[in-house]
Amino acid sequence: MDELALASYLEGSKDRILASLVEWLKIPSVSADPDHATDVRASAEMCAGFLREAGFPAVELLETGGHPAVYAEWLGAGESAPTVLVYGHTDVQPGDPIEEWDSPPFEPRISGDVLSGRGASDDKGQVLMQIEAARGLLSDRGELPVNLKVLFEGEEEVGSPHFEALLEAGLERFAADVVVVSDATMEAPDIPTTAVGMRGLVAFDVVVRTAPADLHSGIWGGTVPNAALVAARMASALHDERRRVAVPGFYDDVRELSPEEAASLNAIPFDEAEFRRTAGVAYLEGEEDRTPRERTSTRPTAELVGIHSGYGGPGMKTIVPATANFKVAMRLVPDQEPDKVAEAFRRWAQDQAPEGVEVTLTKFGGVAPMVTPADSPALRCLSRAVQKVWGKEPLLERIGGSGPEEALGRVLGVPVISFGIALPGDRFHAPNETLSLAQLWRGLLAAGELLIELGSLKAPQ
Ligand SMILES: [Zn+2]
Repeated sequence: MDELALASYLEGSKDRILASLVEWLKIPSVSADPDHATDVRASAEMCAGFLREAGFPAVELLETGGHPAVYAEWLGAGESAPTVLVYGHTDVQPGDPIEEWDSPPFEPRISGDVLSGRGASDDKGQVLMQIEAARGLLSDRGELPVNLKVLFEGEEEVGSPHFEALLEAGLERFAADVVVVSDATMEAPDIPTTAVGMRGLVAFDVVVRTAPADLHSGIWGGTVPNAALVAARMASALHDERRRVAVPGFYDDVRELSPEEAASLNAIPFDEAEFRRTAGVAYLEGEEDRTPRERTSTRPTAELVGIHSGYGGPGMKTIVPATANFKVAMRLVPDQEPDKVAEAFRRWAQDQAPEGVEVTLTKFGGVAPMVTPADSPALRCLSRAVQKVWGKEPLLERIGGSGPEEALGRVLGVPVISFGIALPGDRFHAPNETLSLAQLWRGLLAAGELLIELGSLKAPQ
């Protein structure tokens, strides 16, 4: 096997990199807590310092309506070279519940191969990995194989409320040929995976009204429509007996996986008993003839997330409820369009309601699903880079949720690839968050190889 580009740089730099990461983890940059706003800023500033030391000539904090983001660029590769934008975040989840940590969340510890502390894997370790890969190439070669931009936000853990506006305001500055997301996991140390898609989301609140006011159950009960029952009937009609979503047209635009995508997805091990245990449920259900992994990643769902009506307080109240509401969150997959699905849902809800029952619908969200095609040149580059370090190509997986990746792809109009080295057992967002140092070092080597591979792509004319 060829020598990896950053092998000797890494050998000479591990202690320094670890020391930097430990210092960074000591900053409690909890974006959810206003009391930690200065810490979130200090975390961004420390990150900016790492970037300056790495050799980025232009580094700055970008102000948003909330916590600042860090931006840096190195554009010395020239116009014929592609431009890569690396995304990550400098904020962390709260340390609570503190008493469940073996050592305090913001007093990082190294024991053997494991670094523990809040933010170790999500996402400071993975951000520093990218900075150090660039630093290594710059120090070994004096230049990078691509024009490199990095954007590390400070509000990822609170849902990126200002991120899209930040992107919109800096379209020219952030322009790139590919985005590399460095806030991700892989299945296991010997099973590299990469997320190639995320589901979209559109949700509704449905209010039904059967009468101007609740009615006495002794006088009216048994004759007048009951809003609680109407809502319950509508909600239970949301799925058919095969547990498929019964909204007409819901599946019309769902693209089946290509054989390559399906083979890769099904090669990722899945332990159903463990999955059940983690959720704490007795059994699994859902769309017939689809595996749990498909149902949580490549198939759309319509989840009843709440249903409320009538009297739920202490004792009893003898009424026929006049209003009820239920909420439905639909996860979408390529090529479903949020607006089209929303329209189908509206029609379905109106059709379900009995004549004369007033139905009021309020829509929430409207995030499109995204997927990077398996034959995308940038994804091929990632596969080769991972192959060089792990000895095997990454399997392609889809994420069931949604995240800032979607906005990056949509607003910047470029392919998004995801390279992450956190492991499912790293307990991000939970007590005792960890980072495997073996993963960090391999990830750093692969991040360098990825930039080299991407550098072999031509900038689009
Ligand atoms: Zn994260």
